[in-house]
Amino acid sequence: MSTSPPRILQVGAEIYPLVKTGGLGDVLGALPSALSRLGLAVRLLLPGYPALRQPLTNVRLVCRLGPAFGAASVQVLLGRLPGVEVPVYLIDAPSLYDRPGNPYVDGRGQGWSDNPQRFGLLGWVAAYLALGDIDPAWRPQLVHGHDWHAGLAPAYLALHPHTACRTVFTIHNLAFHGLFPQELLPVLQLPESSFVSDGLEFHGEGSMIKAGLHYADAITTVSPSYAREIQTPAFGCGLEGVIAQRRAQLHGILNGVDYAVWNSTSDPRLETHFDAAHPELKAAAKTALQRQLGLRVDPGAMLIGVVSRLTSQKGLDLLLAVLPSLLAENVQLALLGSGDAELEAACRALAAAAPGQVEARFDYDETLAHRIIAGVDVVAVPSRFEPCGLTQLYGLRYGSLPLVHRVGGLADTVIDANDATLAADTATGFVFDEPTADALARAARRALALYRQPERWKPVVRRAMQQDFSWDGAALVYAELYRQLLAAAPSA
Ligand code: ADP
Repeated sequence: MSTSPPRILQVGAEIYPLVKTGGLGDVLGALPSALSRLGLAVRLLLPGYPALRQPLTNVRLVCRLGPAFGAASVQVLLGRLPGVEVPVYLIDAPSLYDRPGNPYVDGRGQGWSDNPQRFGLLGWVAAYLALGDIDPAWRPQLVHGHDWHAGLAPAYLALHPHTACRTVFTIHNLAFHGLFPQELLPVLQLPESSFVSDGLEFHGEGSMIKAGLHYADAITTVSPSYAREIQTPAFGCGLEGVIAQRRAQLHGILNGVDYAVWNSTSDPRLETHFDAAHPELKAAAKTALQRQLGLRVDPGAMLIGVVSRLTSQKGLDLLLAVLPSLLAENVQLALLGSGDAELEAACRALAAAAPGQVEARFDYDETLAHRIIAGVDVVAVPSRFEPCGLTQLYGLRYGSLPLVHRVGGLADTVIDANDATLAADTATGFVFDEPTADALARAARRALALYRQPERWKPVVRRAMQQDFSWDGAALVYAELYRQLLAAAPSA
């Protein structure tokens, strides 16, 4: 029997710190390294955006593919990216990936019209790496694709007659489907036979996320609660039937936190540091944030922070609805977000009406994100649905108590402060049951009442900072899943 470590290819569309629009980037920036530390032979496959192509070093051309997927020429490169511990394959196809800004949408927020080709190619290259046609020196035994961008990889492999490669598909957000018209099947090199409801067809269109769900050997999602929720119509985005059918292959594995990046004791983006033994030093981070944002410098104000995409998913309209009444108390808000123009306008109006008490920045700013998470008293995440959620986990590590809706990964990671949990010293935040402004207001008022009793607030902050959501635990669970799948696989 071979003792060489299993070869795992991680496939996705973004990676922290170079290309990130949300939690997916954080996961792809951390999980491969955590798996590699466990001894697995991990490599990454990513689209060759300029932001990745330029910093790639030790570059080796592994394959020239000629015209494909609408691109005149496609090359696959292997190299190293700064801050990424595992080798990286990049698909070098400038006509598909050399676009300004966000990886998925144009300047007006519309998805690029050739997204099916751009991400279909990602899945196709993953599959042909696994079939041994792209890099004769390295052939993965298992391909792990993330979200719809990689959803076709399991389909190409399952539809190929000669594959021993196993596949895992992870749902980070079921709301995004990667739809494409039937006419594109030949361009995407997919057989007509796959365009059926027992395949990748979804209401008359092709669906990359459905392809992942239907064809992968195992499906995971990023929290146990979300794994249950997506089997129901309320959260299944029309795919609940497909998911429920595959219940036996579905696993909920909570995301981790990269504590090398998000850590109150060492965060290079902070001017001052603090830890669970000295949470009082957190006050300096709060003062610095209030100064930076032009909020009234007031240690006694309960400062609420939000770092979020501005979309209806995130429930920020609920927060905005209750804020005027909260502002009558000594409460402040620091918001960093980007996205929906209407939400942005509502935030702007609120900030204009409460200068020194509400500050909103509409930007994507990694440094400010860290300073907000560190400097606030409460991190609000009132999401209507939340596959895992990372900002509440970051808040915990910085002693910024999460205020969250009991849903998805938020339900799995925050323990509500009530009489019982406060007495047992297990409370870590504030949780409300319904996604309504009233329920959020009641939880916010409970937070405020506790905040005004420092001797009861401080132990909760300490408890929050002691929570451990490191990637090592999650990586072990993924490694075990890979082991089981490979043990069941015909030999490659
Ligand atoms: P989602 O992936 O749904 O956006 P997560 O909570 O899983 O939500 O991850 C969000 C990630 O994106 C976190 O790392 C958060 O700090 C970051 N983020 C969100 N909005 C911004 C922003 N405007 N500027 C900087 N970072 C942001």
